[in-house]
Amino acid sequence: MAPGRGPRRSNITELVPRRARRPMALNLMLMGPPGAGKGTQARRLARGFRVPHIATGDILREAVEMNSPLGRAAAAIMDAGQLVGDEIVIGIVRDRLQRPDAATGFVLDGFPRTVPQAEALDAMLDRRNPLVVIDIAVEDAEIIRRLSKRRVCAACGTIVGAAEETPPSECPDCGGALVQRRDDQESVVRERLSVYRQRTAPLIDYYRNRPTFRSVDGSLTEDEVAAAVADAAHGGSAVRRTA
Ligand SMILES: [Zn+2]
Repeated sequence: MAPGRGPRRSNITELVPRRARRPMALNLMLMGPPGAGKGTQARRLARGFRVPHIATGDILREAVEMNSPLGRAAAAIMDAGQLVGDEIVIGIVRDRLQRPDAATGFVLDGFPRTVPQAEALDAMLDRRNPLVVIDIAVEDAEIIRRLSKRRVCAACGTIVGAAEETPPSECPDCGGALVQRRDDQESVVRERLSVYRQRTAPLIDYYRNRPTFRSVDGSLTEDEVAAAVADAAHGGSAVRRTA
């Protein structure tokens, strides 16, 4: 596979400053197709590393709910199953990474999605720790099967159901009504996957030869993927967190 695979693990350890007061602080980016569980895994990692979870999809959805000009523009694009343009997204991420809580690390979820976005991110991270890229690999058929069962709570935003045989009828957190997101409908999912494979998959080529690139099998259970992702984020060298 990728050249440079052998030295990956030792390299990543060397790249993390040993003097760091919080040696777990890392710049992490999760990639993978929609429905691969990036959001769930990113939240778990962010908690574990005590760094912000920066989900560009959430930031955009908030803008849509607030009906801001950005939100209206983004809503029209997302409703068509398309991706919001590089310029808007790069601006959002640049602002977010400059906030103090991101100084010791972050978990990026949903960015970058294109090679121009990745190049912009590299420029932003010029003087920071290297970016650890974790690809959560899942096949299209499995994604479609999962997303057809996924539901979101209209009250609190909790996402449930992808791993269940039949989706639950009410939110396990607050009892609110569960609905299917428009972009989880099969026709939209197929369009999203097509867009993903076409435009985002080249990112794997962009990152794959770096010593800090990892790919994990996203077809396993959430806990198994979490263990693999945490291990990848640690470079396989640190204490594995319990799930
Ligand atoms: Zn809820």
